[in-house]
Amino acid sequence: MVRVTAATTRDQLRLDDLDAEQAAAVRAPRGPVCVLAGAGTGKTRTITHRISHLVAAGHVRADQVLAVTFTARAAGELRNRLRALGLSGEAGQVQARTFHAAALRQLKYFWPQVVGDVPWRLLDGKFPIVAQAAGRAGLSTETDSLRDLISEIEWAKGSLIAPEDYAGEVARRHRDAPYDAKKVSAVYTYYEALKTTPDGLLLDFDDLLLHTAAALEDYTSVAEEFRGRYRSFVVDEYQDVTPLQQRVLDAWLGDRDDLTVVGDANQTIYSFTGASPSFLLDFSRRFPDGTVVRLERDYRSTPQVVSLANRVIGAARGRIAGTRLQLIGQRADGPEPLFAEHDDEPAEAAATARAVAKLLGNGVPAAEIAILYRINAQSEVYEQALTEAGIPFQVRGGEGFFNRPEVRQAVSTLRQAANRDDLPDARGDKLVTLVRAALAQIGLTKEEPVGVQAREKWNSFMALVQLTEELSGHEPDLDISGLLRELAARAESRHPPTVQGVTLASLHAAKGLEWDAVFLVGLADGTLPIQHVLGPDSTVSDETALEEERRLLYVGVTRAREHLHLSWALARSEGGRKVRRRSRFLIGLVPDDSPASRIATPTTDRRSGPKRVHPTCRVCGRPLLNTTATMLGRCSRCPADIDQELLTELKDWRKDKADAQSLPHFVIFSDTTLTAIAEQRPTDDKSLVAIPGIGAKKLQTYGADVLAIVRARVSDSS
Ligand code: ATP
Ligand code: MG
Repeated sequence: MVRVTAATTRDQLRLDDLDAEQAAAVRAPRGPVCVLAGAGTGKTRTITHRISHLVAAGHVRADQVLAVTFTARAAGELRNRLRALGLSGEAGQVQARTFHAAALRQLKYFWPQVVGDVPWRLLDGKFPIVAQAAGRAGLSTETDSLRDLISEIEWAKGSLIAPEDYAGEVARRHRDAPYDAKKVSAVYTYYEALKTTPDGLLLDFDDLLLHTAAALEDYTSVAEEFRGRYRSFVVDEYQDVTPLQQRVLDAWLGDRDDLTVVGDANQTIYSFTGASPSFLLDFSRRFPDGTVVRLERDYRSTPQVVSLANRVIGAARGRIAGTRLQLIGQRADGPEPLFAEHDDEPAEAAATARAVAKLLGNGVPAAEIAILYRINAQSEVYEQALTEAGIPFQVRGGEGFFNRPEVRQAVSTLRQAANRDDLPDARGDKLVTLVRAALAQIGLTKEEPVGVQAREKWNSFMALVQLTEELSGHEPDLDISGLLRELAARAESRHPPTVQGVTLASLHAAKGLEWDAVFLVGLADGTLPIQHVLGPDSTVSDETALEEERRLLYVGVTRAREHLHLSWALARSEGGRKVRRRSRFLIGLVPDDSPASRIATPTTDRRSGPKRVHPTCRVCGRPLLNTTATMLGRCSRCPADIDQELLTELKDWRKDKADAQSLPHFVIFSDTTLTAIAEQRPTDDKSLVAIPGIGAKKLQTYGADVLAIVRARVSDSS
């Protein structure tokens, strides 16, 4: 590491944390700067330090800096790092947002000046309108076809292609459109028209960007006011900018050039939205006097992980691959990446849950572990496996918590409750009860329901209840209006209530983030690379799309600091035909001396081993097929013999524990686990761990307490 003399002592400290190339980018004079570098080389760190340097040196005020990126999670990461440098988290500090969130704010502000009193609102989802448009154009309105049509419309808008030009552009670019291009163009035209309603305009996310750009381009007063307000622009993950986002960025800049961009063309994973790394790669052509810095030292991952990353991307082909740099690992040695093959997905998920439990047992915090997959639907089997193992987790979508439809619905229900005339003065526990009661009206049940969608909604509601508990714990005087104010403030800053759980996320949502341990699952041909880039017989039908799939694997591998597990399954469902094979991207990467199936696969899961059996109901003896039933050890219809008083005692104990550690209750034990304890009344370690949801870790932490409560109760009643 090189020491660089800096203007101030505060700044000096920060520059000491940078290597010479990073410091060169940080200290470059005001003006265009581009950092082109591989994963984990400190690009995000460099931009946050550059902002800090520009502010400390007096080139710009913190509140004149606008930093943007693409996903809500990545924007959160940027804010966290800026906060650590004392630059974010308070009014008057650096704004770090997604393009969309920044545009939404600006549009809200400028709309009256530009459009006057025409009302507008953000479109909740495109499906209903695209369905109407597809119907008019004579196309199918099945969910799958609507999804394809939505992707086409999003691609066209992101690429700045108007409805009337769509068919021509598809032909010119040799694009594979899902339907006859003229028909898609008709759907796109109807879709745009249907968004103008008698009650005002409906705007989708891309419209936010289009209107923002247009307001700045067409109204001098708007442009002047905006440019007086923001002077310095920073873009992270610039390889994923769409022409539409670039247009907004250009409108923000005007004829100024105070722009810092960082990116890695080999992490381009959003091409399907129209994103293109050409803006990044052509930066020095556009700004010939700008500073361009390349970074090769990887500070994130162990040399073992870095070596695998280099080999994955080393096999890439095409223009983008030509720009890659070999990463050089800077950290101390760590474990070799592990590869594992499984019979089926449930077995893969169960083995993953066991490996996660082992890491937790070795002291790796849950928040430092991620399970990453290609498509969101893969999460279900992992949710199930983690639930059964009693491991807390959170599923990360592309959407921020407060943007989820069910959370919006919940907040508006709470708002209605707050406006009622007969509203009681509820604070503390009473406020929590009030919130629960309000959410019960829109579906918050006592027990966690079965099914991914239902569970997602339930967990979102529970997260709001827990947040209420947490907030009223800190502030006993908090009432419903105070709570709503806090929720609005959080929604604005897009901080979801955090639960210390293992992260489940798609590879797309994991970009820019890092964890100590990463599990890349479902690495079978047809999942990664995804089936639709493969032709019949698994030949490659689309070479460019295949390369993007490879980059997704590269993004996944480079998220790991230390522990990296890669796995795949030969069949989808338990006992299914083993028709799958490992991802073609792994060919030549799995070491010969590590027969993949031997690693991390206990004997019962081995192909030659006995079939796994479902647990059975202790009342009627039939197999138990869902999580709640498995945890209770009986079918939900079979009679329960719950000891209600014991359950109450257990819940009181859990409340004390949770409050003492400021944890949400279910992190200690879920309601279902406590119910199972109250039914089965285990009195020794062995029968306690036989209850699903109680693993070695829970036994060690809470076993003695729980057994003491049960034993006291059992001896009382006998
Ligand atoms: P990605 O391409 O995945 O977004 P990145 O290039 O943005 O990666 P960062 O996230 O900024 O990389 O850095 C990766 C990790 O390395 C972070 O934990 C960061 O704090 C650390 N790091 C970066 N630069 C240095 C340095 N000079 N010394 C020590 N640690 C560093
Ligand atoms: Mg980054």
